[in-house]
Amino acid sequence: MSGFSGGARVAAVLGRPIAHSLSPLIHNAWIEAAGLDAVYVPLSPAPGRLKALFESCRGGLVAGFNITVPFKEEALAAADAISDRARRAGAANLVLFAADGSIMADSTDGAGLLAALAEQAPRLAITGVTAAVLGAGGAGRSAAAALLAAGASHVRLVNRTRERAAEVASALGEGVSVFGWAERAAALDGAGLLVNATTLGLAGQEPLALDLAPALADAVVLDMVYRPLHTPLLAAAKVSGRTPVDGLAMLIGQARPSFEALFGRAAPEDVDVRALALAALGEDG
Ligand code: NAP
Repeated sequence: MSGFSGGARVAAVLGRPIAHSLSPLIHNAWIEAAGLDAVYVPLSPAPGRLKALFESCRGGLVAGFNITVPFKEEALAAADAISDRARRAGAANLVLFAADGSIMADSTDGAGLLAALAEQAPRLAITGVTAAVLGAGGAGRSAAAALLAAGASHVRLVNRTRERAAEVASALGEGVSVFGWAERAAALDGAGLLVNATTLGLAGQEPLALDLAPALADAVVLDMVYRPLHTPLLAAAKVSGRTPVDGLAMLIGQARPSFEALFGRAAPEDVDVRALALAALGEDG
């Protein structure tokens, strides 16, 4: 089906700003390929209006929302029920409105990170790995929680604001140690996996200054930043013989389980959403 009817199932992505989001492109491509009577739109609620928006959606007016910056923590607080993985992530990127009127918060960001690693670094054994995660915002906490749940032996959480990393470590419990920004070389020492979950390297932001030498020679390096897709961090990983994993793989990896929860069926495999996203980003793969 192309287009949608008056009975269409509706979902949205909420963020502020939202115009840059690739989620409508990805989900609508899957909707079309699956022949669903559905639509996925971008919305940008005014600050402080998220809870009111959620209340007005109770009972299935919309199927649900993906949630992006800056609403991920607020969305968690506005839900009636929270999945274990969203609680551990400390943030929600998915909110579902059940027919019984309840609001459920979930997080598929960790699943997206693991899917990206499985796709672009299939030889990485997460079980037993020592991982260094740069950034202790919502993305860093989600990554740390997902890696521990997947069997990582230890996560070294590095953050400019050390106290923020300490708070995340105490929320996640055993298996996380805290490093300040000046200690990042020590955090990389012997690490088999490095994840950039800071905004450094994002177009218009400062670059991420990091020497990969202390990490294992065959370490995997995942950069959540995907604007630009080919970040200097991933280029450094590649030239040093390490395995780069890009942020677009993670974005698509979190979108798949979101689609299934929102539309009640698996995302179709026969549409190349990565190629569509690359074209929208003006990137070549
Ligand atoms: P956030 O909560 O705002 O956290 C930003 C992080 O960046 C914090 O750890 C912050 O440190 C750090 N940071 C900012 N400027 C810095 C600087 N000059 N030097 C050192 N550290 C700095 O954002 P978030 O939601 O966690 O997202 C983080 C990044 O991940 C964003 O680029 C986002 O687009 C990306 N992301 C990608 C995906 C994907 O699917 N690819 C999914 C989620 C997020 P402080 O705590 O000290 O401020």
